[in-house]
Amino acid sequence: MTNWMAELSWSALEERVAAGAVVLLPVGANESHGPHLPLGTDRICACGFAEEIAGRIDAVIAPEIPWGFRSQIKTGGGSHWVGNIGLDAEVLVGLVRATIRELAIKGMTRIAIVNGHYENVWFITEGCELAVRDLDAQPGGDLIIQTASWWDIVGDDDLGAIFPNPPESIEYEHGALVETSIMLAMRPDLVAADKFPQHGFKVFPPYDVFPQDPARGNETGSLATSNGANAEAGAALVKLIADRMADGIRTELKAGPSHGA
Ligand SMILES: [Zn+2]
Repeated sequence: MTNWMAELSWSALEERVAAGAVVLLPVGANESHGPHLPLGTDRICACGFAEEIAGRIDAVIAPEIPWGFRSQIKTGGGSHWVGNIGLDAEVLVGLVRATIRELAIKGMTRIAIVNGHYENVWFITEGCELAVRDLDAQPGGDLIIQTASWWDIVGDDDLGAIFPNPPESIEYEHGALVETSIMLAMRPDLVAADKFPQHGFKVFPPYDVFPQDPARGNETGSLATSNGANAEAGAALVKLIADRMADGIRTELKAGPSHGA
């Protein structure tokens, strides 16, 4: 049984929604992640987590938003790398806003956004806020939107339990140990294990300068080394994150148990 909306007929979708299916909306990016990971890493992770969650709660997955807000030097390596196709903020806000509004108008009023790209966070928030305003939704009403980014689900204690040498901070984890491990679990065929970045994280000044100068960034498009990344750790992370995201959706969106539960 597929959980992807685009693979269902309209009548099959109608049945799933009538049976109480929540809709998941993955949001990704096309962004440099070092020489060892694909540009679509954030989209692949968002869709991968959505598939894991959908299997746990019988959710339907809406077509993902493949683009994200433009990469920043301090948080994503910068937008100067070839392949970094960043959206203007208002375009991303508009995509999120219009998608929620359209889902809700068609009766899909319980929506969970699964974000895979750090720079998207506030623009997803704004898309939700504007959709709520468009639909005049109120707390306790039919429309409930939950947003979550996978890295917020992982604590330092989790990383300490999974990795012998855990990263100093999840903040430096763009293209590094954690994200590379998740990709080794989800799509090992797309990871170049012989091209792991070897550099540590760069300490940036507590301000930004525009136009952004690529020379201020680091040399790989990853924020730190991915040495130590492995599929076993990645699988543990995927399970932990998907379990907790599904629990959050069950709680907030009253999603049902999976067929297998
Ligand atoms: Zn990423």
